[in-house]
Formats: sequence, structure tokens, C-alpha cells
Amino acid sequence: VFNFSAGPAVLPVPVLLKAQSELLNYQGSGQSVLELSHRSALFETILNETESLLRELLEVPDGYHVLFLQGGATLQFSMLPLNLATNQHLIDFIDTGSWSQKAIQDAQVYAKTRIIASSASNLYRSIPTDPVVSDADYLHITWNNTLEGTTYTHVPQVDVPLVADFSSSILSEPIDISQFDLIYAGAQKNLGSAGMTLVIIKDDLLERTPALLGSYLRYDTHATHHSLYNTPPTYSIYLTKLVLEWIKEQGFETVVRRNRQQAAALYTYLDQSTLFSNAVALTDRSRMNIPFTTGQTDLDEQFLKFAERNQLVNLKGHRSVGGMRASLYNAMPTSGVDALLDALHRFEQGER
Ligand code: PLP
Repeated sequence: VFNFSAGPAVLPVPVLLKAQSELLNYQGSGQSVLELSHRSALFETILNETESLLRELLEVPDGYHVLFLQGGATLQFSMLPLNLATNQHLIDFIDTGSWSQKAIQDAQVYAKTRIIASSASNLYRSIPTDPVVSDADYLHITWNNTLEGTTYTHVPQVDVPLVADFSSSILSEPIDISQFDLIYAGAQKNLGSAGMTLVIIKDDLLERTPALLGSYLRYDTHATHHSLYNTPPTYSIYLTKLVLEWIKEQGFETVVRRNRQQAAALYTYLDQSTLFSNAVALTDRSRMNIPFTTGQTDLDEQFLKFAERNQLVNLKGHRSVGGMRASLYNAMPTSGVDALLDALHRFEQGER
């Protein structure tokens, strides 16, 4: 089947095959990666290679730590205020939809929050573009909005540290990391499997953590211990290494080009269709998550059933948005998008 899930998401077939071939006996050790001690030389090599591949592909500048944590992007909604909202206890947010709001809700437990821009009045179908001013401890943005299908294309310019949730678009396109002070992403969309969360943090932010904070919740703990303070999500890190090797083999620019072509093909179809449509502002359309609808609930349901019969699965839109959503993460082959376009076309022609 072609899997359009928003996450956990499709993995590249060569990655799954490599993981399968190494599952029982990793590099002649007689052990599975699942069984390796996180203090073993074999696992430390996996961890170091994963970090150096990430640094290479994302062009992470010097002066940043790369951390492999657990707890999903959701734990970051708490770790961020606990570690960084320590001067004024005030955090600014740009509200671009459901995941921004989840981040705000958790931050409110620990600090004052302020929404300095929002696309709520536009039903979150665009990204606020007016210049913003912040004097908070930091500004938080959600770069790619998985449910609403929007993405930033320009980095907001502010005089305070900029923190961004890249969960659903990390490694789908180049990022100028130097414009951010912290970015984070759960692994289960573009980086590998659920269980690992990537945090890239500028070194000077590590000094903000207050003395009274438990060890796991502190960024400085993980930075000092090179993500080995406690048992890290070893297998998830290993899968990320395989995904990064897969990207490097083809060239990151090939992956980026494929993402652009796939999204463009689907948007082009939706824009000329007389049945299906996407309501997101043209300039702010996500290349990873593309919501669309016929505008009629029963027809959407019929299409979803038709799609499943054609081996196209997990196309149902999030319940808060409705309709359909195609997530086209890095591992989606172009044949999957072609099959979706074919099904959309045939359904529009009346086939059921
Ligand atoms: N932020 C965004 C943009 C997401 O898409 C998701 C999950 O889909 C999350 C945060 C939450 O991630 P997790 O389930 O890893 O906590």
C-alpha cells in the first residue's frame, strides 16, 4: 500500500530492508541493535555517526548541541519553558493552529504566554507575515502545521531567541539553523521511528536552565552527557542513522527536489479540479501535509473508501479539519503520488 499517514509515517523501503538484514546480528557482534548496551563502542559509533550525518545534512553551524531525547515533541512543550523562560517568565507565540496551541497550553503552566500574531481569523489557512516584535524570554513558532497544511517560508526576525517546532518538516528542505536558537522535532515523520526527539540548541541557551530542575528535564544534562545521561532510545536513533544514510546516498538536494515536485503535482491537480480543493493560501502551502476536500462529508467518506480499495491508506484528514490529508514525507515514492493522482482523477470522473 501507499501510506499517507501524518505520523508515524512511511519509512524508505531500503531502510526497512537494511534494518531487517541487521536485526539479529549487528555487524557480526552476534547481538541485535535492540540488545546493544548504550555504553558499548558499537552503539556509541551509531550515536556519533547519527549526529555527524545530521550536522552534515542540516549544515548545523558550530556553537550548537545536537541532542537525542525521548518524550516526543510534546515533552518539549514543557522542557522549553522550564529551561528557557527563566528571566521574565514570559513567552511569546505565533499561533498557527493546533500544535501551536498545544505548545501554548503547556507553557502556560510554567510561565506567562502572549500571542503576538495569529492566523486564527483566517481559520489557520495562512501564516501571519506582518513583522513581529518580542521582548519575551523567547519566541516560539510552529514551522510546518501538520493539521492545517501550512508552512513558514521566511524566518520571523526578532531580537529574542527563536524556538521552532520542525516536527513535520525537518529534513524536507534546507533550514538556515543559524537563524534559530533552538529547533526540535519528533522523529516519526521524516527522521525515523517514534521514540526519539531531536533538539538542536544554541550553546548559550544551555546556561539559562535554573538550578532547581530534575536531571532529565534539563538541556544541559543531555548536552554534557552527549545524550547518554540515561538510556537513550537506541533503536530509534539507529533507524534515524539509516534514514540519514539513505538521504545522503541520493543527495539531500534530490530529496528536496522530489518533495517539491510531488507537492506541486498534487496542488496543480487540486487547483484545476472541479471536485476537490485545498483552501490554504498559495504562498503558505505545506509540501509535507496537504489537506483537501470535496466540501461534502459523505463524498469525502466515499473517496476515502475508494482510495483504500486502491491501496491508498491513511488519507483521512485530522478530525479537527475533516476531509482528506495526504502527507508526503521524504519516504513517499513518486509512484505513490502518481497513484493518488490517478485515484483522484478517476473518482472525479465518476468511478466509485
Ligand atoms: N508538533 C507537530 C508540528 C506535530 O505534527 C506533532 C505530531 O504530529 C507534535 C508536535 C507532537 O509530536 P509527538 O507526538 O512526538 O509528541
